[in-house]
Amino acid sequence: MTQNTLTPFSFFDLLDACAQPGCLVCRLASEIVHNYLDANLYESVNDPDTQAALRRSKGYCHTHSWLLTKTSASPALGVAILYRQAAQEVLETLGLQSPQAEVRIRRKSMGVFDDILGRLKPQAQCPACIHRDKMIEFVLKTMLEALDRGDDRMQSALAASGGLCLPHLRHALEISKSQAASEFLRRQAGGKLSALIGELNEFIRKNDYRFTGEGMGREGDSWRRVLAWMAGEQ
Ligand SMILES: [Zn+2]
Ligand SMILES: [Zn+2]
Repeated sequence: MTQNTLTPFSFFDLLDACAQPGCLVCRLASEIVHNYLDANLYESVNDPDTQAALRRSKGYCHTHSWLLTKTSASPALGVAILYRQAAQEVLETLGLQSPQAEVRIRRKSMGVFDDILGRLKPQAQCPACIHRDKMIEFVLKTMLEALDRGDDRMQSALAASGGLCLPHLRHALEISKSQAASEFLRRQAGGKLSALIGELNEFIRKNDYRFTGEGMGREGDSWRRVLAWMAGEQ
């Protein structure tokens, strides 16, 4: 299965994501992971490469394992098929599956648990994390290239969007090869952040008993938005 059939992504998906609240890259990343897990559950459960990757990584990471259970209405059979071989391999590592295997393990003296421990650890990163990181890089490059060529649609979509959270702003600046694109992102982040700080000031002021009668406006969830900006969306 190619990356593109798995999670179709285009310049226009990026523009659409700008219209959603919060960091557009976080939003796309969440959609990308959702599609990836969904495809693994329905199209790739019997795919040898998918199963081999899961054996190496000892399943998905904690976050993506539990996300898998919420990805579809009926994840049960897909999860059972995907995890059976990985669980079987862990069982073999423990060396209990046959008397011969147990004798072999016992003969190894004190080093035996070091040996087992080494093979119980993941030999590779979570496949969903790998896929997400690869796609985030692709999303950011698409955005940076559009900004570099001064694409109006990208500039105005980004200006109207929630912008990038701090981790994704950092990532974009790290991989940017364009002064113009970096400068656009720096200015945009500065503008959005100073507006957010203004809302935090207002939120804190309205929590003072003298002003509580004014009622909360848009600043009411600014404390959540600053968490999302600093750490990335939930
Ligand atoms: Zn983000
Ligand atoms: Zn993961």
